[in-house]
Amino acid sequence: MKQLQSEIVAEFKAQLRGNVLLPGDADYDEVRQIWNGMIDRRPALIARCASPEDVVQSVKFARQHDLLVSIRGGGHNIAGNAVCNDGLMIDLSLMKDVQVDPKARRATVEPGCTLANFDAAAQAHGLATPLGINSTTGVAGLTLGGGFGWLSRKYGMTVDNLLSANVVMADGKQLRASETENADLFWGLRGGGGNFGIVTSFEFRLHPVGPNVLSGLIAFPFDQAKSVITQFARFTQTMPDDLNVWMVTRQAPPLPFLSAEVHGKEIVVLALCYAGDPATGEKLIEPLRGFGTAHGEHIGVQPFVAWQQAFDPLLTKGARNYWKSHNFSQLSEGAIDAIIEYAGKLPSPHCEIFIGSIGGQTTRVAPEAMAYSSRDANYVMNVHGRWETAAEDERCIAWAREFFAKSKPFASGGAYINFLTEEETDRIESAYGPVYHRLVELKKKYDPTNFFRMNQNIRPV
Ligand SMILES: Cc1cc2nc3c(=O)[nH]c(=O)nc-3n(C[C@H](O)[C@H](O)[C@H](O)COP(=O)(O)OP(=O)(O)OC[C@H]3O[C@@H](n4cnc5c(N)ncnc54)[C@H](O)[C@@H]3O)c2cc1C
Repeated sequence: MKQLQSEIVAEFKAQLRGNVLLPGDADYDEVRQIWNGMIDRRPALIARCASPEDVVQSVKFARQHDLLVSIRGGGHNIAGNAVCNDGLMIDLSLMKDVQVDPKARRATVEPGCTLANFDAAAQAHGLATPLGINSTTGVAGLTLGGGFGWLSRKYGMTVDNLLSANVVMADGKQLRASETENADLFWGLRGGGGNFGIVTSFEFRLHPVGPNVLSGLIAFPFDQAKSVITQFARFTQTMPDDLNVWMVTRQAPPLPFLSAEVHGKEIVVLALCYAGDPATGEKLIEPLRGFGTAHGEHIGVQPFVAWQQAFDPLLTKGARNYWKSHNFSQLSEGAIDAIIEYAGKLPSPHCEIFIGSIGGQTTRVAPEAMAYSSRDANYVMNVHGRWETAAEDERCIAWAREFFAKSKPFASGGAYINFLTEEETDRIESAYGPVYHRLVELKKKYDPTNFFRMNQNIRPV
C-alpha cells in the first residue's frame, strides 16, 4: 500500500471543504464499498469532495504524487471502476444538489446524486428526464455511458437530454462543455464514460411526466415462455413511444400479488410504463394480458417516483454480481430459445435475464452525433448473474458466460458500455463502433497521459 507522509495528507485535507479518509478511519470501509460485492479494493486514500474546487485539488494532488485515480459517482458500476487499489479514490457522493428551473424545464445536477435524488426534485414540478430503472444508481456514471430507462422510447437516451456539463480536466483546469463551448468535449462526454475529465455538474432538459403514470407487472408461468416472449418481441416492435415494456425471466420473488405456491418458481414477467394519459395506456396494454394465462398482475396508476423505485428491493447493494450484455435490433427465434434454455437453469434465485426495450426516440439520432453510438439497439439484454456467497462464484459466472456465448449469434454486435465488466476491455472498441477512432483522437487531446484510466478505457494511442 502506498504510504504518504502524514504532513502531506494533512496539508491535502486542509485544502478541501470535504474530507480525506485513510485506511483505518471510521468511514473508510463504508465509502470504499460499492454496489457490486465482488469488488473489494483498498485505495491509499479517499477524497470526499464537497465542491468542484475540491475535485480540482484532488486531481492536482494525484498528479503531484503520481497516484492512480478512480472516480465514484453513485458507485453502481458493475466493473467496479469507482474504486482503485493503492491510489486516490475521488468520491463525489457528497455532492448531491439538484436545482430545477421549472419554467425553462432544466435541471442542474451534482455528480453525487442518485436517480432518486434527481427524480424527486424534478417530479416536484411534474418533470423528468430519462434515467435508469433502479433509483440507487448514480446519475453521473449512467449519463456518461448513455443512460436509458422507462422514458427513453419517448424522450431518448439520458445523453440526448444533456445540455451542458462542467468538467475538471486532467490538468486540473475547469471547462464548460455544451454544443457551443468545447463542443468536441461535449460530444465525447455523451457516452465516452469517465475518459475525459471529472464532471462536477450536469445540466439536463426536462419533460412533463406524470406525476402519476400507468405502470406495473404481469407475471406468466415459465411453461408459457416461448409464446409470451415471442409475442413480446412482436408487440414491442410497433408499440407507440409513450409505452415501454420490458421482459424479465427469473424465479418469482415473494410478491404479494403472486400466490405462495408460485414463489421461487421460474416466471416470465412483463414490466411496463406508459408515459402519457393513463386511460389511453390502459387500452394499449390490454393485448399484453392475452399473451398467456397470467399468474397475476399488479398494474395501476402510481407516482412515477414510486415506479422508479419498484425494482430497488431486488437490486440492493452488497450481493455478488457478474453481468453479460448484448444489444439486439430484433429478437429472433434463436435468441428467444437461448433465453428460455438458460432461464430454465438459473444457478441462483437472484439471477435473471432481462430484455430492456429502447428503440423509439433513442434510434432517431445519427450514430456519429455523439460518443454513444448504438442507435440500432432496439433492445438491451442483460444476463444478470447475482448471488450471495463466494462459493457460488464459479457456477454463476459460468452460467452467465455460457448464455452470453449462446445468444451472441443473434445480437447486433454493439454493447452498452455501462454494462461491461472489468474483464471485457476487448469489447470497448466494438461497443463504440463507428465513433471509436474519434474518441481516441479526443483522448489524445484532452487526456494524453491517460490520467483517467479506471473506466472502460479509451487509450490515447
Ligand atoms: C442495479 C443496477 C441497475 C441499473 N440499471 C440501469 C438502467 O436502467 N439504465 C442504464 O442506463 N444503466 C443502468 N445501470 C448501469 C449504470 O448506468 C452504470 O452502472 C453506471 O456506471 C452507474 O453510475 P454510478 O455513478 O452509480 O457508478 P460509479 O461506479 O460511481 O461510476 C462508474 C464510472 O463512471 C465514471 N464516473 C462516475 N462519475 C463520474 C464523474 N462525475 N465524472 C467523470 N466520470 C465519472 C467513472 O469512470 C466511474 O468508474 C444499472 C446498474 C445497476 C448496478
